[in-house]
Amino acid sequence: MLCKEAVHTAALGVSMASLDDILRSLTPEEQRPLMLGPHAFPWLWRFFMPAELKSFRVPEEKNATCGNCPRVCDAGYRPDYRCCTYQPRVPNFLLGLASQTPLGSQALARAEEQQMLLPEGMVASPQQWLDFMEDQEQDLYGRSQRVLCPLLETKTGLCSIHAFRNAVCSTYFCEHEQGEAGEIFWAQLQTLGSQIELGLAQWALDQLGFSVPNYLEQLDSYAPRVEQLSAPQGWRSEILRELWGPWYGRSQELYQRCAALIVAHRHELWQLANTQTLREAKAFEAALDALSGEDTELQEPGAPEPAALTWEYCREAHAALWTPSNGRG
Ligand code: SF4
Ligand code: SF4
Repeated sequence: MLCKEAVHTAALGVSMASLDDILRSLTPEEQRPLMLGPHAFPWLWRFFMPAELKSFRVPEEKNATCGNCPRVCDAGYRPDYRCCTYQPRVPNFLLGLASQTPLGSQALARAEEQQMLLPEGMVASPQQWLDFMEDQEQDLYGRSQRVLCPLLETKTGLCSIHAFRNAVCSTYFCEHEQGEAGEIFWAQLQTLGSQIELGLAQWALDQLGFSVPNYLEQLDSYAPRVEQLSAPQGWRSEILRELWGPWYGRSQELYQRCAALIVAHRHELWQLANTQTLREAKAFEAALDALSGEDTELQEPGAPEPAALTWEYCREAHAALWTPSNGRG
């Protein structure tokens, strides 16, 4: 059995109030997007990112005009999906929050129908990953016919979970006013955000009694047959059954419980992100790399870098943005 049904609420130090109730208890200020310059970031960034980030002067990225995407004209991107020819890994708690909105709930249903939902969140299947890598090799990013984010609302071309999108989508700008220094800064912030998201998604599962080690072990056991796990879209049903265990068919419930925990503990998230041990299915990840022709050495688990160290790299990248030697400060 992959996960325990028992939800040890007493040990959580927080009553299992519904996500609805917890969200209602937030102030309007707490639910306002975090603004960095003209750019809006998910409101949870107020809590899980270091407080110092709010004082950062960030590039305005005026040329990444998503409403009138320049890449459609100058690079032949498809006008409907543009740079969303990508299937992001979105952590469980952000999906739980998104499920509380009409558009987010519909997007989640699409991702479920496409069999892309795992306990950790939305994750592309091995075949979808391979398709993405092949598209990259053939310079088809932005023009793909098959790698399309299910969370995009095709009628409007907008992201259905914009207020809850992950760190990769939040920090992606196709043009950088500060050139390479800008690209490095956003990439560092993306690394930090992704690291925190993974740690918090695993922390929430731990709190719910879902065994993350067993789940990762199960993924690792698939490494010798990684090419057999995918359905025409997403993951094969029997693989999903194994990975979800007793939670199979209850993705929305699990995601909402994860979201409720994260929001209830919002004032501790940075601390949690720095104490949570990040765990990975290393054999499975290596098999995925091998499938797409990448040569990865299987490494022994080591001490993960704390988020605080990644934050130091962000600070350095931020300082480099505005130095005279960058020539654009
Ligand atoms: S970030 Fe994406 S949607 Fe926005 S302008 Fe660039 S390619 Fe277009
Ligand atoms: S989550 Fe939203 S921003 Fe990210 S790829 Fe999907 S539609 Fe685009």
